[in-house]
Amino acid sequence: MEMIDYMKMADHYVLHTYNRFPVVFERGKGVRLYDTDGKEYLDFAAGIAVFGLGYGNETYNAALKDQIDKIIHTSNLYYNIPMAEAAKKLTEASGMDKVFFTNSGTEAIEGAIKVARKYAWLKDGGADHEIIAMNHSFHGRSLGALSVTGNAYYQEPFKPLIGGIRFADFNDLDSVKAQITPRTCAVILETIQGEGGIYPAEEEFLKGVRALCDERDILLILDEIQCGMGRSGSMFAWQEYGVEPDVMTCAKALGCGVPVGAFVLNKKTAEQSLVPGDHGTTYGGNPLACRAVSTVFDLFASEHIVEHVQKTAPYLEKKLDELAAEYDFISARRGKGFIQGLVIEGRKVGDIVAKCLEKGLVVISAGTNVLRFVPPLIVTEADIDEMTAKLREALK
Ligand SMILES: *Cc1c(COP(=O)(O)O)cnc(C)c1O
Repeated sequence: MEMIDYMKMADHYVLHTYNRFPVVFERGKGVRLYDTDGKEYLDFAAGIAVFGLGYGNETYNAALKDQIDKIIHTSNLYYNIPMAEAAKKLTEASGMDKVFFTNSGTEAIEGAIKVARKYAWLKDGGADHEIIAMNHSFHGRSLGALSVTGNAYYQEPFKPLIGGIRFADFNDLDSVKAQITPRTCAVILETIQGEGGIYPAEEEFLKGVRALCDERDILLILDEIQCGMGRSGSMFAWQEYGVEPDVMTCAKALGCGVPVGAFVLNKKTAEQSLVPGDHGTTYGGNPLACRAVSTVFDLFASEHIVEHVQKTAPYLEKKLDELAAEYDFISARRGKGFIQGLVIEGRKVGDIVAKCLEKGLVVISAGTNVLRFVPPLIVTEADIDEMTAKLREALK
């Protein structure tokens, strides 16, 4: 079959919830993808900030194959080895206390919301606790996560959503203060807003929110689903701020391709929230997913992934800054490490993304007018040079 035939087949049978770009990717190697015609693409999207290690890492693939031969799934009624190992590595990397594994980012957010409500309920037995979320945030598509996603377009058709959610402006401490009531039980935010357009939290803001939460015994939930796992230049972006969350959510690069997420609790929250019977999942933390997580942490250490991001990201920033200076329709660069965005004015980002794809470069958009760069964490300066050359061709 030709590429077009696979696209027609998918369009015929798959519910139309995505306007997909006209390409069928068949395989990947390193930072490169290949479509069914054999055309090569340089990948600066990593399956939306997922494939941190690049495609076809031999150690990663071998570990998964080994696990498939041993056991893929057992359920959470029993212990399994990879879950214990993955949870140990995730708590050690974060300095936090306890992990609950989920299948996706949105489920990690659902868990975090339940933790916050249970924590507050244990204190006063109330059923009317509130959560403060940020405008232009993105936390997922299930109803709880959608309720804290500050995007009217995503929310409107699905109301009523869960109650007790108030919205504040990101990087505006006064606007958060204005939403605090005696019923507030948590503040949720992305350490670096991803889908909303690549906005890193300002240090003063994050420290201010932390102090506010401490004063009133409100939980701080940091969503590290996109910016975590080395992407910012630290294992978790909040580690650069001198601010610790009570609850952290992870997914995307946590399994580097195998669907898995987690919410991670500090000691206080772990001791005063969910207990047996409160929460569950059939698949979450299954041996295959957790073997992926465990192997990802091993490879981050042995391949010095975080150090590589720290070392190489300034080069990406420099090259993107050059582009921003060169083209009058690129008004700014924003981001940290390998989560970067170029702000596009007066041209459609979707058209640029499509043109890049034609030229063999995979990039994605964020928000309405940001060209997003979330490459595999192993990209080199040579890859960055190739990316900018292809991007220049596309911008002609
Ligand atoms: C992608 C994303 C989510 C949702 O994760 P899914 O795995 O798609 O459910 C939540 N929060 C942030 C910051 C994300 O980038």
